[in-house]
Amino acid sequence: MTIGVTVLGSTGSIGRATLEVLRRHRDRFHVVALTGATNAELLAEQARAWRPAYVGLAQGGNTDCLVEAATRPDVRIVVNGIVGAAGLEATLAALRAGKRVALANKETLVMAGDVVTRAAREGGGELVPVDSEHSAVLQCLGGRPPDHVARLILTASGGPFRTWTPERVARATVAEALNHPTWRMGRKITVDSATLVNKALEVIEAHFLFGVRYDQVDVVVHPQSMIHAIVEFVDGSTLAQVSAPTMELPILYALTHPERRPDAAAPRLDLVAAGALTFEPIDFALFPAYGLGRAAGEAGGTAPAIFNAANEIAVERFLEGALPFGRIAPVIGAALARHVAAPADTLSAVLAADAEGRRLALEAACS
Ligand code: NAD
Ligand code: MG
Repeated sequence: MTIGVTVLGSTGSIGRATLEVLRRHRDRFHVVALTGATNAELLAEQARAWRPAYVGLAQGGNTDCLVEAATRPDVRIVVNGIVGAAGLEATLAALRAGKRVALANKETLVMAGDVVTRAAREGGGELVPVDSEHSAVLQCLGGRPPDHVARLILTASGGPFRTWTPERVARATVAEALNHPTWRMGRKITVDSATLVNKALEVIEAHFLFGVRYDQVDVVVHPQSMIHAIVEFVDGSTLAQVSAPTMELPILYALTHPERRPDAAAPRLDLVAAGALTFEPIDFALFPAYGLGRAAGEAGGTAPAIFNAANEIAVERFLEGALPFGRIAPVIGAALARHVAAPADTLSAVLAADAEGRRLALEAACS
């Protein structure tokens, strides 16, 4: 019997990479359900190729089909490749139904970290990261207990603007922001990588996934994207996970953890061809949204949900050509400044904060 897998967001970058991994590992996994929202044609094509028991097209904010796809009894693993807050209900429902959630959809862990981790504990579900940095941490930890860990170091490529002046970055075009040096991804996360919001989201994601304090999560810029994360242990030893930048490896690992499967198609490490691996600190003046995100994480409560919602609005406006790149961070900052912090221990509190963050960001973007 092979393992049943649901792929939420199968038409996106993570979703398509997941289907490629599943195609190579058909002897172990089969696709039970696929969902998409924006590309009905590709979804239909995938449905013809995979013949899943269930296909859902999410439209008009209706998440019922996502929850249905994520909680079917014939599903063991749910790969959540949805972008943004829309992925939250399906993650919660899958965890409450005792499924493994292979989570790429980091926004929902950021906005509702306490609610999501509680759903996993109570429902017997399991949260396994797909994000390459967090997969790297999980692999370096290798099941060692939390009190062995001193610090996590996540790497950041630095995005396309790493060597630019702040003045030039402020005027960056959509095409320039979408021109990521090392990763090919969906539009929203590519813009998040240009502002380094993505790295702030990942710091918060690491806090909730691994139960570490914020002062235990450092970030270093590493433009070659070969080392994905480093774990420093209490005795001063460090372990790093190193591999060519492909999402197929962390996706496969999220499906098989803690086991590994042979994957002949995976790129092999060639250190000589890789050349020099370099590291630099984050320039906080060049990437102001990164500092805002870290501070929101440290503030806790609903602040991360506000940060995430405001960023989603700002990025949407930027991609529509309605907001300059340099206004993304100020819009997020304005939303965070106007919001009154509250606990984020229930789904309704999180959803209210998400709505408030969107409203505050729209106000700031239009003023
Ligand atoms: P994408 O834009 O390529 O794909 C998003 C998918 O979500 C599509 O299938 C789309 O149809 C679906 N979707 C969008 N809005 C929806 C809605 N309202 N309801 C239901 N489905 C909806 O994005 P992506 O690059 O694949 O990223 C997906 C998630 O994975 C994001 O959270 C991103 O941060 C994370 N992630 C991506 C990568 C990567 O390499 N692409 C790496 C790490 C983490
Ligand atoms: Mg990442």
